[in-house]
Amino acid sequence: MVNKLLIIGVDGMDYEYVASHRAELPFLNYLLENNGYPRMRSVFPADTTPAWATIFTGDDPSVHGIINFVNVGDKDNTYKAHEFDDDEFKGKVFWDRLTQKGYKNVVLFPMNIKRGWDIAGLMITRAYDGKINTFPKEKADFYKPDAAILGSELEYTSESKLSLVRDDFFKKFEEEYRVTKLALETEDCDVFFSYFSTVDGIQHAFWRNCDPNHPEYPGDNKYRSVIIDMYKKVDCVLREFSAMAGDTPMLVISDHGHGARPVWCARINEMLKREGYLAPKSANNKASKKSGFSIKKTIRNMGIGFVKKFGLPKPMKFILKKIPLWKKVFVSSSDFDWDNTVAYLSDLSAMKNYSYGGIRVKAQNNENIDALCDEIISKLQKYEIDGEGVPAFKWIRRTNTLYKGEYLSRYPEIIFQLDERFGATWDLGDVIFEKKGFMHQFSPGAHRYETAFLGAKGIKLEKEQYELTDVYQIIMGEV
Ligand SMILES: [Zn+2]
Repeated sequence: MVNKLLIIGVDGMDYEYVASHRAELPFLNYLLENNGYPRMRSVFPADTTPAWATIFTGDDPSVHGIINFVNVGDKDNTYKAHEFDDDEFKGKVFWDRLTQKGYKNVVLFPMNIKRGWDIAGLMITRAYDGKINTFPKEKADFYKPDAAILGSELEYTSESKLSLVRDDFFKKFEEEYRVTKLALETEDCDVFFSYFSTVDGIQHAFWRNCDPNHPEYPGDNKYRSVIIDMYKKVDCVLREFSAMAGDTPMLVISDHGHGARPVWCARINEMLKREGYLAPKSANNKASKKSGFSIKKTIRNMGIGFVKKFGLPKPMKFILKKIPLWKKVFVSSSDFDWDNTVAYLSDLSAMKNYSYGGIRVKAQNNENIDALCDEIISKLQKYEIDGEGVPAFKWIRRTNTLYKGEYLSRYPEIIFQLDERFGATWDLGDVIFEKKGFMHQFSPGAHRYETAFLGAKGIKLEKEQYELTDVYQIIMGEV
């Protein structure tokens, strides 16, 4: 029995996808319709880790600091991921705040939380180091969360393994559903939160197979309905949970949207070079031979067709797994003449070929950094996609006009959203816009910033446009 509020989080559930599948997803559409189809923006960057940290605490990433951008202009090009542990969340997350007010909570599979902690009620963590923790411990035998299923991380490696990947996601969904339903039937609490992980992953792996408008849609194929099938499962279980909760208000959220990873690329560094903010190392410099370019080319030359058919060779898998190394290989600081470079594409977008990203700007001497950023912005704003007359950037702004927290320095100075068909790439070239990409072959789905999902039953959502930072307030206001 849930007395006050039932919250279900669905990673990567896209507002536009739901709204454009009304007939197939009636309950999700009902949740939106109740409140006039409100929109919700994710955080910037729209990554799972900072986004759930924001949902749990109400703080934007410049305040909670759980975010990674790499500054490749650093002298030694070191990459050190921001490691965080449960202490950064303890006492600050909504369920702890509610506990302080005397409420009893159930928290299932919360993203970002590693070992978990004892709360008034029930907490079951995600699999971390192959282990799931249940608080109170005595309940572990009752719920028996299956760490092998919940912790499995089958990733796309080759076309022939796709059916295994699909089955893995559906198994995981069933286990998340089983435990959630059992807790809903069993526990008596004020607030109930459960996190569902599989909508995001299945879109990452299957977008190309399911979207007939995708430039590389393979035609009718046996995976064509995989994504909609997963959404339908979610629709179905949410209806069931809603019935179980009776009149108790229900809130359904996602952390960011999801769509096709851009298939084409926009060379942001080339723009910056042409505007005089970035200087490449001269071509006959020996160092450039060892740079990221050639390695990237080698991988390209291996042939994507080969990779899809036979899977990735072991070293590549290793690279894809070990993000720091992967970053090092793809983004090498030896490409540029750093003494004469003031602005360059920051790492994240370069790596993932996302349509959003950032530009690092370093001021020379005592130059006013804001003025320099504004100058760069006004120059880049003028870029249009070749032959289309459409602006390349949907928006481009100084980061400090969006966020102001103490960890703002972890961000690049400028952030942007490109036309969604184009991903930002790091390399230089004769053309700025190229209808040719790379990363989407490994992971055809990608996160979207402006299309997170916010739906509710029995809660009045009055704004047309929400930010992810509002979710915490909605929860606290409802209890
Ligand atoms: Zn996510």
